[in-house]
Amino acid sequence: MNYDVIIIGAGPGGIFSAYELVKLKPELKVAVFEAGHALEKRHCPIDGDKIKSCIGCKSCSIMSGFGGAGAFSDGKYNITNDFGGTLYEYIGKQRAVELMRYVDDINMEYGGEGTKLYSTAGTRFKTLCIQHDLHLLEASVRHLGTDINYVVLNNLYNYLKDKVEFFFDTPVNAVEKADGGYRIVSDGKAYTCEKCIVSVGRSGSKWMERVCRELDIPTKSNRVDLGVRVELPAAVFAHLTDELYESKIVYRTATYGDKVRTFCMNPKGAVVTENTNGIITVNGHSYEDPSKQTGNTNFALLVSKSFSEPFKDSNGYGESIARLSNMLGGGVIVQRFGDLIRGRRSTPGRMEDSFITPTLNATPGDLSLVLPKRILDGIIEMIYALDKVAPGTANDDTLLYGVEVKFYNMEVEVNERLESCYPGLYIIGDGSGITHSLSHASASGVHVARGIVEA
Ligand SMILES: Cc1cc2nc3c(=O)[nH]c(=O)nc-3n(C[C@H](O)[C@H](O)[C@H](O)COP(=O)(O)OP(=O)(O)OC[C@H]3O[C@@H](n4cnc5c(N)ncnc54)[C@H](O)[C@@H]3O)c2cc1C
Repeated sequence: MNYDVIIIGAGPGGIFSAYELVKLKPELKVAVFEAGHALEKRHCPIDGDKIKSCIGCKSCSIMSGFGGAGAFSDGKYNITNDFGGTLYEYIGKQRAVELMRYVDDINMEYGGEGTKLYSTAGTRFKTLCIQHDLHLLEASVRHLGTDINYVVLNNLYNYLKDKVEFFFDTPVNAVEKADGGYRIVSDGKAYTCEKCIVSVGRSGSKWMERVCRELDIPTKSNRVDLGVRVELPAAVFAHLTDELYESKIVYRTATYGDKVRTFCMNPKGAVVTENTNGIITVNGHSYEDPSKQTGNTNFALLVSKSFSEPFKDSNGYGESIARLSNMLGGGVIVQRFGDLIRGRRSTPGRMEDSFITPTLNATPGDLSLVLPKRILDGIIEMIYALDKVAPGTANDDTLLYGVEVKFYNMEVEVNERLESCYPGLYIIGDGSGITHSLSHASASGVHVARGIVEA
């Protein structure tokens, strides 16, 4: 065997499995194969000046490379079982939270020290929300920020680079069963290992589906979350974000009984585009460094959709809607809330006339031509509900960017060690469909590494 363990993917899941393996058993020969670039080579060409929108790089630096999809993210580590994945269903609630805290300790040791840990537990906002039929979920939130998150990743890489063999710009094409382990193939070259950890995240979703099909690993369809990214003056949400940083608020619509939730709140942040398998969607992030902050806060409003019979392809549904918005807007569409509720498109003129400066250069348009009525109605209802706890949310100038889509990988069947039906083949992180966040993905990496060492 070339290696004891091969890890596919250098996102949080892959990094934390490598970290724990070499910490607990330094004699292990470990290799990490990553489709994207090394951290210092990761640059998105969009500069807002010469290049304003996604040019579809071969390897998207936002989604791929050392640090994974999380590298330029806001670095919000939510320590909770209430959202961010269902890891607890496999390893138990207590262990899941213990591992998320352990990951937080490592992040602090590697450069995150001094960043703030917020908590929503027992705050006055819970009462305020419930009085308006809004439900604030409980979590501790460590906000590293895009800048500190990068420092932590760089320090982790420097710690790992002499202990683990890294292969960057090396997408793995196939995983095959070999005598006593696995053979992975990249660019015609084969490498063997006793155990293989697959942690390919969302960007690896199509690849993961193929591998599961080829190896006959059972999977089941997951949900897709669809909606918009809201951007408004930071002052509107300041009373919540100053104390909680991120508030995950859930609302059940009166019209359809659908749940709409806030997601990924970025106080004084920026809206960004995201490229998933060639589809341009919207996301957001913010910096810890005050000099890089903006005057706006952004967050997503999402509605979950899942399908079972006869149509099962939730991601395909989300993709079609995102493609429609890409077709109409050439990328991301932006619309003022006032224009949306008056049934008219936003135009460059109306945008210029508004009191808010968008942080993303998107195409002014009409989201009602893109999002299904049921989803859009839910979002509008939620904006009015939020207006009661954060007055100003429903102002005419509030910006809605669309579409925001959270694709979830299909859920791969694994056991409590996150091992597939093939002994020694582990599937973790967002690629497994079990996690959807930095903290859960990282915790799944630690869990699997400990399982391998203890076996
Ligand atoms: C802009 C943005 C902001 C976000 N903000 C937050 C946040 O604040 N808090 C939060 O909790 N979550 C956030 N997320 C989500 C978070 O980044 C993911 O949940 C997390 O990164 C998942 O970790 P992972 O290791 O499972 O997968 P990923 O981070 O996606 O890493 C997978 C890696 O595998 C590589 N790969 C894929 N296929 C192959 C292959 N065939 N061969 C080799 N390598 C391959 C990819 O290039 C990638 O680097 C954000 C995501 C984005 C895009």
